[in-house]
Amino acid sequence: VVVLDKLGKDFGDPNNPVLEDVDLTIGRGEFVALLGASGCGKSTLLNLIAGLEQPTAGSMEIPADGVAFMFQDATLFPWLTAQGNIELALKLRGVPKEERKEKAEELLALVHLQQAGKKRPHELSGGMRQRVALARSLAQDKHVLLMDEPFAALDAITRDLLHEELARIWRHTGRTIIFVTHNVREAVRLGQRVLLLSSRPGRVIREWQVREEQKQPEQAALLANEMT
Ligand code: ATP
Ligand code: MG
Repeated sequence: VVVLDKLGKDFGDPNNPVLEDVDLTIGRGEFVALLGASGCGKSTLLNLIAGLEQPTAGSMEIPADGVAFMFQDATLFPWLTAQGNIELALKLRGVPKEERKEKAEELLALVHLQQAGKKRPHELSGGMRQRVALARSLAQDKHVLLMDEPFAALDAITRDLLHEELARIWRHTGRTIIFVTHNVREAVRLGQRVLLLSSRPGRVIREWQVREEQKQPEQAALLANEMT
C-alpha cells in the first residue's frame, strides 16, 4: 500500500540530502518498525509519506484515502474532553452527528479508557493521553497509521502496556503501521519487519524479519543485540 521509489529529500542543499534513494514497499497490514539514530531522517521520511513535506527526488505511492499520523507528544485539544477529541476526528471524517457518540465510546473502549471519556487532557496521565491520541488516530479510519516515537516520553511500565495494546489493536483492525523509534527493543517487540536507516544520507541499510518466536524476551534480546 506504500511504495517509495528512490525517494530523496534535501532542505536546500542537493549535495547534502537528508534522505537519498529510499526504496521501500510496504504491504497492506504490515507492521514496520523504522530504526535509526537521532537526526537521521526518520521523522522527515514519515512527513513525506504523510504529505506534510514534498520529496526532492524520486516518487511514491500512498493510499488514496491518505494516512493517519500520531505524534510523539499527544497534541490533544485541551478544551475538549477525551471523548470530545475523538468526536472531533469523527466529525472531520464526515461521520454524522448521531453516530459520533457511540463510535467514540467504542474507540475509547478499544484503548481501555471507557471510564475517562469525560475528562480533559490535563486530568489524564501521559499514558492515558497517548491512548486518547491513539484512539483519535484510529478514528480517522485510514488504512495506514504513521507513528513517530509515540511512546518515547512514557515510563517503561506504561510503555509495556501500550505495546500490548497496540499489538492487539493492530491484529484486530488490520491496519498498516509504520512505527518510528530509536529503541531497538521496542522495534523488535512491535515490528514484523525492522528497517534501519543510515545517517546523511538516510537510506535503508539493513532489514530484519521478526518471527513470532523472536518476540519472546530471550530471543528478542539476541536480535536487538544484532541490531546495535
Ligand atoms: P530524531 O530521532 O531526533 O527525532 P529524526 O531521525 O526524526 O531524529 P529528522 O527530524 O527527520 O530526524 O531530521 C533529519 C535531518 O533533517 C536533521 O539534520 C534536521 O536538522 C534536518 N531537517 C529536518 N527538517 C528540516 C527543515 N524543515 N529544514 C531544514 N532541515 C531540516
Ligand atoms: Mg524524529
